[in-house]
Amino acid sequence: MFDPLLSREIKSGQNHNAYWLNTTDILSFPTIENSAQFDVVIVGGGYTGLSCAIHLAKQGVKNIAVLESNHIGFGCSGRNAGFVLPGSGRLGYGELVKRFGKQGALSLHQDYLAGIDLLQELSSAAGSDIERTESGYLKLAHSAKWFDKLKTSADYLQKEFDYDVEIIEQSNFCQHYVDHKKVFGAIRYSNGFGLNPLKLVNGYANYAKSLGVAIFQNASVTDINYGNDPAVTCNGHKISADKIVMATNGYTPQKMPSPLQNKILPVLTSVIVTEPLTKEQLANSNFRSQQVMMDTRELKYYYRLLPDKRVLFGGRSAITGKQSTHPKYKMRLLTELQQSFPALASVNISCDWTGWISVALDQMPHIYHDNNVYYSTGYCGGGVSFTSIAGKKLADLVVGKSIETPLATALPNFPFPAFRRLGQTAFYQWGRLKDSFT
Ligand SMILES: Cc1cc2nc3c(=O)[nH]c(=O)nc-3n(C[C@H](O)[C@H](O)[C@H](O)COP(=O)(O)OP(=O)(O)OC[C@H]3O[C@@H](n4cnc5c(N)ncnc54)[C@H](O)[C@@H]3O)c2cc1C
Repeated sequence: MFDPLLSREIKSGQNHNAYWLNTTDILSFPTIENSAQFDVVIVGGGYTGLSCAIHLAKQGVKNIAVLESNHIGFGCSGRNAGFVLPGSGRLGYGELVKRFGKQGALSLHQDYLAGIDLLQELSSAAGSDIERTESGYLKLAHSAKWFDKLKTSADYLQKEFDYDVEIIEQSNFCQHYVDHKKVFGAIRYSNGFGLNPLKLVNGYANYAKSLGVAIFQNASVTDINYGNDPAVTCNGHKISADKIVMATNGYTPQKMPSPLQNKILPVLTSVIVTEPLTKEQLANSNFRSQQVMMDTRELKYYYRLLPDKRVLFGGRSAITGKQSTHPKYKMRLLTELQQSFPALASVNISCDWTGWISVALDQMPHIYHDNNVYYSTGYCGGGVSFTSIAGKKLADLVVGKSIETPLATALPNFPFPAFRRLGQTAFYQWGRLKDSFT
């Protein structure tokens, strides 16, 4: 399997096997067969690249190309879990205040909410049915101590951000959402929801195309010249552009010289989807809600009941691409699912897959540029909604506007980048320990 940390390029002609491929078709676009000149070239056909393209086109930029190494949505955007979350990165609100001050944290909070609105605006402008579920993102306490912390954080959000978050006691949760054997209570953000991620990325692509954006698939960029003569090499052809946008996120080949080299850690996350639950399984597990759920562990599990009554269950995966197909990773997810919902002890996996998220050293996304190369990345696994607004801000940067966000700073370099995976392994050991004691 493609491993961005070890690769100089990402090969074309690949596909993934996410469950969403059973629900809708992959869109088809031409490839690059000649040298060409564009005003803006966007590398990467996921939410970030397409949102940026849409907002550039809306601002009157005419000659825009999106170059995607495989098919549109090949990266995270076509294979994520479809959780629309009021947030991005890994920092909670208290940590945001410490890092960016109250004003900075408030502006991020507003962007988180604006990202959710913008996603819905873009998908409805595209006329796409993204299979939006009922509203609600549930953060589930994995220990009594964590339920206390969640209650304190709900109080903090109310007081400091005027943001209402509902507190749900354990018995109420098991009665009205799902009978969960490992949960001690929850808080519920009313503006989260679930969707079909592949339909969302297809919607963005159709919308970008309708605005005149040229989209190319199987168009892998193997070199980026960001000096005086900005250009990329794609399928062996020189593609010149005044400005280049890297929207390659966790799929960025880290051995290819670029402004993102040594600045992100690609991290694998795995997902399983079960067979549809029978009426009996649904009744015995009391699975009543399609709201999206994530626990409070350092090494988190996330899950949801899909519209066709399958359970999607995701969490940490292997460290390297090579290890990623080992069955132990999907079996770990199945075991956790069955321990959480014993009534599903006999349920089988019908589909499983993995994907690379992009983790920044400081655990937050950055929207920035290095000479003529612009980027937005580092969502740390929380980018379904935030990429809509990040792409919009990126477009503003590209046309020379200044952007209002504390995230408009350069991505920090990883110190000793060759040892990124040693650090990740140590973090996983520490996380496991922490999760069993707190
Ligand atoms: C399994 C999984 C579950 C997730 N679940 C959630 C969730 O529920 N909620 C949430 O908020 N976030 C989730 N995420 C994260 C979220 O999907 C991402 O943050 C978001 O999709 C990032 O979008 P993007 O456009 O920046 O990157 P991507 O969608 O990853 O797109 C990058 C694209 O760049 C292309 N590319 C890379 N290099 C080149 C090159 N050299 N030339 C041409 N093209 C190139 C890749 O092929 C890829 O298609 C999940 C991620 C995974 C993997």
